[in-house]
Amino acid sequence: MTHEFDAVIVGAGGAGLYAALEASKTARTAVVSKLYPTRSHTGAAQGGIGAALGNVDQDSPEWHAFDTVKGGDYLVDQQAARILAEEAVQAVYDLENRGLPFSRTPDGRIDQRRFGGHTRNFGEAPVHRSCYAADRTGNMILQTLYQQCIKNDVHFYDEFQVVEVFLDGTRVAGVAAFELATGEVHVFKAKAVMFATGGFGRMFRITSNAHANTGDGPALLARVGIPLEDMEFFQFHPTGIRGMGILITEGVRGEGGILRNSKGERFMERYAPTLLDLAPRDMVSRAIMTEVIEGRGIRGDGRIDDWVMLDASHLGRETVYAKIPDIADFCKTYLGVDPAEAPMPVQPTAHYAMGGIPTDIDGRVCTDTTVYAGLYAAGECACVSVHGANRLGTNSLVDLVVYGRRAGRHIADYVRSADHSRLPADAGDAARERIATLKKSRGPHPGPLYERMQQTMMARIGVYREREQMEEAVAEIRQLREEFQQVRVQDNSANYNQEVLGILELENLLDLSLVTAVSALNRTESRGAHSRKDFPERDDVSWLKHTLAFLNGSDVSIDYKAVDTSIWEPKPRTY
Ligand SMILES: Cc1cc2nc3c(=O)[nH]c(=O)nc-3n(C[C@H](O)[C@H](O)[C@H](O)COP(=O)(O)OP(=O)(O)OC[C@H]3O[C@@H](n4cnc5c(N)ncnc54)[C@H](O)[C@@H]3O)c2cc1C
Repeated sequence: MTHEFDAVIVGAGGAGLYAALEASKTARTAVVSKLYPTRSHTGAAQGGIGAALGNVDQDSPEWHAFDTVKGGDYLVDQQAARILAEEAVQAVYDLENRGLPFSRTPDGRIDQRRFGGHTRNFGEAPVHRSCYAADRTGNMILQTLYQQCIKNDVHFYDEFQVVEVFLDGTRVAGVAAFELATGEVHVFKAKAVMFATGGFGRMFRITSNAHANTGDGPALLARVGIPLEDMEFFQFHPTGIRGMGILITEGVRGEGGILRNSKGERFMERYAPTLLDLAPRDMVSRAIMTEVIEGRGIRGDGRIDDWVMLDASHLGRETVYAKIPDIADFCKTYLGVDPAEAPMPVQPTAHYAMGGIPTDIDGRVCTDTTVYAGLYAAGECACVSVHGANRLGTNSLVDLVVYGRRAGRHIADYVRSADHSRLPADAGDAARERIATLKKSRGPHPGPLYERMQQTMMARIGVYREREQMEEAVAEIRQLREEFQQVRVQDNSANYNQEVLGILELENLLDLSLVTAVSALNRTESRGAHSRKDFPERDDVSWLKHTLAFLNGSDVSIDYKAVDTSIWEPKPRTY
């Protein structure tokens, strides 16, 4: 079956829905999503959305932009960060006007809380900048945007997994998608296609990410020759529930929660004397791992799966249940711990992809030399780059609404004058054949490969990295990609065949694992979330540049792109 639209948005998280809302003002717009929209990972975002409203403390977008650049260890494109911080303010008011129920100050304004790396006056002290709706901010954003999209007649194709993108030279022509309910492959012809497929934390064993976060968009584009930017920078959030990785929002520390080691010490005093527990995430995750490796984890054996404690019990029952009610629920359900009474055991958890599909400030997919006409990306799968080497908390939700909206506006304008490109006559056939092959012959189950990939990435491309381990990771991932060719489904049914989807997702994760591992091995410095034991210093002379990695069969070739440092001179980071 073939469908024709002006614009197809792949993904119904915050970025996709905001773009659809804007694009639908002029374009016949479809959202194609493998999940029902409100199940997208944006709905799991707890802590908040950063914007310099100045409702609690004095604040300014300039300080927000500076914190973003410094937090990203100066690999941030600075004009993009300026736009992020300036447009964040209006974006939050827009969400409020569309009905988002933010938590309030006693005098009725949008309340704000502290978050890591967000400061007043270029680093003086923490600032209240994160706007929030208890610890359900992302869920509220999704509900609000989805309702608005329905009102604006956006067409939704729910539980359709995009499996292929069609380019005509450097112009986009459409996508093919697998319909979960029927097993059919549909072709969507479109003048503009935007990828908003979210993150890919499922590469790692301990992760805060939902099962669907498998990086489908970046992987599909990598396979048609589009490079991926800065893939070596993957954020580990310091506070995942021990052994499970389920996130405990930084908002807990924003409200006054404290990290302690086995001796009860507030160890962040040694690592970030000014911001303490609210230092940027890369620094806090490294501090936890250092405590653990040096034997001051709770178990004390120095193994990397040891943990520390996050204590919020001194905040009082009323604050805990008013400000972080969902966290209290998670802890009681998964740990049998009530955070109003006892500390929570935590360890770093793979959380956020700073890298992804390279775009300009209008969401157009591009490299220094090529703009792919009609092809857009925004949200976690994209790299604009406002997060550089390390994202600050609350800046992803801002990225979704600011750059999702900008991309949507550009699409609305673009489709007015653009024509449809040529779709290949046999579009969709390759995907149909692929799925038929998976069902026809017998072969091993993908489960063990999935586990080996996650173990390898966690152990060798984790918080701390070094050459030998990364080389082993690259070799192991190559091996897994070969073994993957034999994998087959055990379930042949046409309807709701989750196994087919799972195999296609694993392929995407394996491709992105390879690109991530090779990009990490290539960068011989430490910057932000990429921390090498063998190259512990940041090296601006050789490495103040973005990586562009091209996937070519089992090879990855590397090129570079300049960083925009037009506002602030890179400086060493202290907090
Ligand atoms: C537990 C958790 C808490 C977080 N808390 C915060 C926070 O407080 N503040 C903050 O700023 N950030 C937070 N983040 C980060 C932030 O939530 C995410 O980066 C962001 O929501 C990603 O949004 P997105 O629109 O890019 O993608 P997502 O919301 O992940 O949506 C991706 C969409 O793409 C679709 N999709 C994927 N692949 C395909 C395919 N092949 N075909 C069709 N559709 C596809 C999915 O169906 C889904 O609709 C948190 C993240 C996690 C995991």
